Amino acid sequence: MNAPDIRSDLRDAVRSIPDYPKPGIIFRDITTLLGDARAFRRTVDELVQPWAGAKIDKVAGIEARGFILGGAVAHQVSAGFVPIRKKGKLPHKRVSMTYALEYGEDVIEMHADALIKGEKVVLVDDLIATGGTAEAAIKLLHQLGAEVLAACFVIDLPDLGGAEKLRKLGVPVRTLFAFEGH
Ligand code: AMP
Repeated sequence: MNAPDIRSDLRDAVRSIPDYPKPGIIFRDITTLLGDARAFRRTVDELVQPWAGAKIDKVAGIEARGFILGGAVAHQVSAGFVPIRKKGKLPHKRVSMTYALEYGEDVIEMHADALIKGEKVVLVDDLIATGGTAEAAIKLLHQLGAEVLAACFVIDLPDLGGAEKLRKLGVPVRTLFAFEGH
């Protein structure tokens, strides 16, 4: 089976829920993909395939679905795992980054000692929409001196422009498949 076929299989494993969490949003639910052993394994393999031979020091995962995927990827590439969390969840000394939402703003945090300057890091999350969350995560990683090798997502919503936004920051972006619209 070639790569596009594999990816359309994976795309079919995602459940789409209209008008969740609010009217007009189609929620792309990856729990169905995660619950399918073959689809989960293939997703993890495919996510970091271009960097399979590279030395990766840390995989950073964005709360919460990025923890599930990022933990599996970290194991796969023999890297450490770094959680990027919502404000107020991490117990030790933190660094924070504020980013804009459609209405208002949000904050993500990392432990200040989660990385050593110069470490090579791959960022992982389930989905990229506007790219606001991932952009803030990349800024945090750069602030701690990391070299961000790539940002990897299972799902791209290209109409919202997030992947393009990250590429403009000079970070290679990998997505496995896309859904049109929001
Ligand atoms: P953004 O910062 O706009 O790129 O949003 C990305 C974050 O929001 C990711 O952590 C996603 O899990 C979540 N997200 C945004 N839109 C959706 C959607 N349509 N379905 C599922 N998750 C979404």
